[in-house]
Amino acid sequence: MSGLRVEEKLFQNRYRVDAGRPHIGIVDPTLCADSCRDQQCTVCCPAGCYTREGNGRVVLITDGCLECGTCRIICEEHRNIAWAYPRGGYGILFKFG
Ligand code: SF4
Ligand code: SF4
Repeated sequence: MSGLRVEEKLFQNRYRVDAGRPHIGIVDPTLCADSCRDQQCTVCCPAGCYTREGNGRVVLITDGCLECGTCRIICEEHRNIAWAYPRGGYGILFKFG
């Protein structure tokens, strides 16, 4: 067992960006700002893909997404995330071993 921190382990993964074709999207950004009080996606995504801006809007950048599905579950109440796996060959390439 190594003494690496989680951030260091995540850094060992590789990610292939499918430019212009994000595999996850916020369906209605207005709903995030106006109706989602806790905006839990901004604190629960392990890759930090969701950012809360000063005006209450939430910005999603899928680069580095681990495809864990947490955001989809967290947003179950609002169903405001359109979620799919990346196309074959794109997305996270986990480091094994
Ligand atoms: S949990 Fe869903 S509705 Fe709430 S801020 Fe995140 S994406 Fe928007
Ligand atoms: S699937 Fe996981 S890593 Fe990807 S954006 Fe959602 S919570 Fe973040």
